[in-house]
Amino acid sequence: MYDVKSPNAREFISHEEIMATLAWVQENKNNSSLIGEILEKASEKKGLHHREAALLLTSGDNEKLFCIAREIKREFYGDRVVLFAPLYLSNYCVNGCVYCPFNAKNNEMPRKKLSQDEIRREVTALQDMGHKRLVIETGEHPGQNPIEYVLESIKTIYGIHHKNGAIRRVNVNVAAATTEDYRKLKEAGIGTYLLFQETYHEETYNRIHPSGPKSCFARHTEAIDRAMQGGIDDIGLGVLFGLADCVYEFVALLMHAEHLEAVYGVGPHTLSVPRIRRAQGVDESNFTHGVDDDTFARIVACLRISAPYTGIIISTRESGECRKKVLDVGVSQISGGSRTSVGGYDPPETAEDTRQFEISDNRSLDEIVNWLINIGYIPSFCTACYREGRVGDRFMKLCKTGQIQNCCHPNALLTLQEYLIDYAESDTRAAGERLISREILKITNEKTRTVTLENLEKIKKGSRDFRI
Ligand code: SAM
Ligand code: SF4
Repeated sequence: MYDVKSPNAREFISHEEIMATLAWVQENKNNSSLIGEILEKASEKKGLHHREAALLLTSGDNEKLFCIAREIKREFYGDRVVLFAPLYLSNYCVNGCVYCPFNAKNNEMPRKKLSQDEIRREVTALQDMGHKRLVIETGEHPGQNPIEYVLESIKTIYGIHHKNGAIRRVNVNVAAATTEDYRKLKEAGIGTYLLFQETYHEETYNRIHPSGPKSCFARHTEAIDRAMQGGIDDIGLGVLFGLADCVYEFVALLMHAEHLEAVYGVGPHTLSVPRIRRAQGVDESNFTHGVDDDTFARIVACLRISAPYTGIIISTRESGECRKKVLDVGVSQISGGSRTSVGGYDPPETAEDTRQFEISDNRSLDEIVNWLINIGYIPSFCTACYREGRVGDRFMKLCKTGQIQNCCHPNALLTLQEYLIDYAESDTRAAGERLISREILKITNEKTRTVTLENLEKIKKGSRDFRI
């Protein structure tokens, strides 16, 4: 039975409720007055229930939907786009996920785990690109990648200060863990804990996770609850699109977010929408639920409308063209200059044989920063909220009252200024300087504008790491 507050995965992600939602959507798909009412509600920018959102996803044209999504994005995120990169620490894995080449049965995949010295080299290379925010990635392997290895690696990463570089926020995408291990991750000072559900469709889940601890649907689906109970209130949910029907996944993803909000009073910090990619040794004929670009953009727009205060992440799995489209209707964070291999940053492009999947957007971080500026966005390397303790429900409260704008906009400009001086190519720097001069005028609070201007000057003189 559906119970949004239940601790049981099969009750808060109730298959019956999802099927009832899909049936309700079928019944109402031509009900233009109901669709109109939901669009009206969406325009109030307070989010939608999963049923309403599902009807919008499957009915009506793009124009009105994209227009509302764009307005919400503008109001809560302005033109800022936060940048990050993944760092693969180890591809040892005991699980059997059929979509992932790191699965234990793939004998063709060379196995590699970075030593702390190798991590230092990788992170130095990432700092030299200009990154300040990483997501660490590992396979699940209690012998090779125990929690102690992850904790030691986080400590190493935070401890590396190369020239003006520093990683100021380490997000973590590692396998489902115990409450106790989540507590340790929290104590290590992680930013967001990300765990993708892959698919919420239990039958599909069981089929594509034939072995290993991840094969237990309940253990995986309830992991975010354990993370919350372990004190991590900054959570990232995600679905790997292509495994099961995308409307089913969309509804379940929102139900998961509603569950967190109902039980802990705080929804997810981010939603990720990876689409499955070609990968070594992975039989693509297993996946018959591919999502086309137009539907993909509608999914992003409907997530933006349904969860206005939640960041949406898109990785380099997607092409530049697709990223531009979804940035327009909701995405707020993107990766850049990414490698999905273990040890792929130093030296660049080697270790390809350990790659998890092919990426589509192969541009360097500087090319992406330059591109973002040219298409009207403000690239941001900001990590201030988490370091100022503006996380979990505190962050949500600031978002909901619109106050977050007063910090995010100036912080984006300050961190962009650091990037321009320390890492940018000359044309990116020129374009970025012009952008900052224009954007500084949009800070309406006089005191904040003055402080930002003073700090921009200090950055030009060599100081770093200012935040509001
Ligand atoms: N091993 C952990 C886990 O599975 O939860 C954490 C990180 S895993 C390295 C990162 C994510 O890569 C997985 O959650 C999955 O969604 C995604 N992934 C795996 N194979 C993929 C593929 N062929 N194409 C796109 N994404 C893939
Ligand atoms: Fe292992 Fe994660 Fe890949 Fe599954 S998705 S095989 S758990 S690395």
